[in-house]
Parts: sequence; structure tokens; C-alpha cells
Amino acid sequence: MRYSAQREIIKQIVCSTKTHPTADWIYLEAKKKIHNISLGTVYRNLKTLEDLGSIKLIYDQNQVKYDGNTEHHHHLKCSECGVLIDAEIKSDFNKDKIIKEYNFEPESTNFFIIGKCKKHTK
Ligand SMILES: [Zn+2]
Repeated sequence: MRYSAQREIIKQIVCSTKTHPTADWIYLEAKKKIHNISLGTVYRNLKTLEDLGSIKLIYDQNQVKYDGNTEHHHHLKCSECGVLIDAEIKSDFNKDKIIKEYNFEPESTNFFIIGKCKKHTK
């Protein structure tokens, strides 16, 4: 199978779910379609897709997850089950103030709001 065809399948897998899958999960899904694919190939394709801006990487504590939603958004995270829900939340902040106070130049924001999902609220 051509490299570009493999990459397209992997992109579709990431974009077909809102669960923010890990590379291991994507690998298992990819194997159903490309029987001889290796985990290394999956990682390489994910890296290329990320470089192309076709998917996004998110760091959920120490786990790397992949997001097919490339629009700017944040995540609501349930502290009970760990589910990640995409959320469009305004995150305006005063860039000049951050530069002055912290000597740090912000480029983007990506935050998690921790709480309880509807299954875990009483
Ligand atoms: Zn997301």
C-alpha cells in the first residue's frame, strides 16, 4: 500500500472519533485495515499528519493523545473517568501583561478544565 494511502487511513481513524485516542488505539484500528502495519509506521504517519496540521496532539497528563478536531478548542476533563470533551471557550488574556510579568511570550492556549462529566455528577 502506498505511503499516502496509509496516511489517509490513519487520518480518517483519528477524525472518526471524538475520544482523543492514543497511538496504541489508533494502531489497533489501523491494523484492521492494513494488516501488516507496524506501530512505528503509525507513529511516523501521526507525526507527518501533525506537521501538516491535519491532526492535533494533546498532552493529557503524561499521555499523548490525538485530536481530529483542528479548530482551536479546549478540553473539559472528567476527574472520575478521564473523558475529554471538546469545548469552545473564550480564552482572552492580556498578552502584554504576560510578557511583562513573566517575560514569556504566549503563542497559543490549550487548557483542560477539570470536573465531573454528566455520568459522574450527582
Ligand atoms: Zn479535542
